Amino acid sequence: MTSFVLATANPHKAEEIRALLDGVVLLPRPEHVPEVVEDGDTLEENALLKARALVSATGHAAIADDTGLFVDALGGRPGVWSARYAGENATYADNVAKMLGELAGVPAAQRTARFRTVAAVAYPDESWFVVDGELEGVITDDARGENGFGYDPIFAPTGLKGRTLAELTAAEKHALSHRGNAFRELAEALAAR
Ligand code: IMP
Repeated sequence: MTSFVLATANPHKAEEIRALLDGVVLLPRPEHVPEVVEDGDTLEENALLKARALVSATGHAAIADDTGLFVDALGGRPGVWSARYAGENATYADNVAKMLGELAGVPAAQRTARFRTVAAVAYPDESWFVVDGELEGVITDDARGENGFGYDPIFAPTGLKGRTLAELTAAEKHALSHRGNAFRELAEALAAR
């Protein structure tokens, strides 16, 4: 079976992806490879930019992903700019605080949002494909829970009675998350090739 270099250097994400792609050989991102400037207008473009850059740098097949949080009351923001929502060097806490501030006073029914993950696979022969996964939910009024990362403390998936992603165990999150859905589809696509 082909092995893949994994583009993400984010340990939270790498851990989730390794659990989801059980059985696929994933090589760590070599330290000498610089980060790609994620200047695409869509998650697909950014995921492919990252995967192709790794193929160029290593000569090896690569897997990359890009995720955004799309909030209806904000016209779909922050979307592709979710990491930099509160500024270029924003921390997760900065982004969470800005989101709660922007949505202050917005009623529960209008706080709908979704996470979307696109995973891209690129090969040295220049072939590629993408898959995606989504998770619907609402932005809560305050941050709750200690698990996960990013916007997890303020995102309550539909059907979980208001529990946030940060109040779930890692296994519970994997079973329903945008990244879980995208990488389960990716695992199926790789197995079928
Ligand atoms: P990335 O492009 O996949 O690194 O994701 C962009 C940003 O979205 C991250 O910096 C996080 O703030 C946020 N994000 C991505 N995945 C998740 C998740 O599973 N839970 C909460 N926030 C996430």
